[in-house]
Amino acid sequence: MPADKDCLFCRIIAGDIPCQRIYEDEHTFAFMDINPASTGHALIIPREHARTIHELSPEALAATALSAQKVATAVRDTLTPDGINLLQCNEPAAGQTVFHFHLHVIPRSKGDGLALGWPISPGDMDAVAGLAARLRTRLNG
Ligand code: AMP
Ligand code: ZN
Repeated sequence: MPADKDCLFCRIIAGDIPCQRIYEDEHTFAFMDINPASTGHALIIPREHARTIHELSPEALAATALSAQKVATAVRDTLTPDGINLLQCNEPAAGQTVFHFHLHVIPRSKGDGLALGWPISPGDMDAVAGLAARLRTRLNG
């Protein structure tokens, strides 16, 4: 039984929808992305259903991060890419299309042209400092 019957990734975990599974443990599940950004693009998900990082339990987040490290290391050792990106999207504005928290492992090669970067331009340091102060208050009281 999927944890959420309307969720694609819960249905993959439950075996209702096929996938190329590469790893699973008590708290997490990993499989190949069906629309790979590059050769070896994999996804790591918690068994716990959560829409974004904000709803996910700290325990499930930690377990997913540990599994992502295992997968990234296996991808590095198997495919010897020049580099690897970890990517995680929250809400459509950030590119999220499947609403079950997941981490992407995306192998990279020099000059592959994948558009995951942004142009480097200096920030307004007064604005950055003001925002840092607001965040420090939020985080530390
Ligand atoms: P995001 O845009 O961060 O929400 O990423 C969702 C990812 O899930 C995309 O890279 C999709 O290609 C991938 N995806 C969607 N459906 C499937 C599926 N049935 N099996 C494997 N990957 C999928
Ligand atoms: Zn789900």
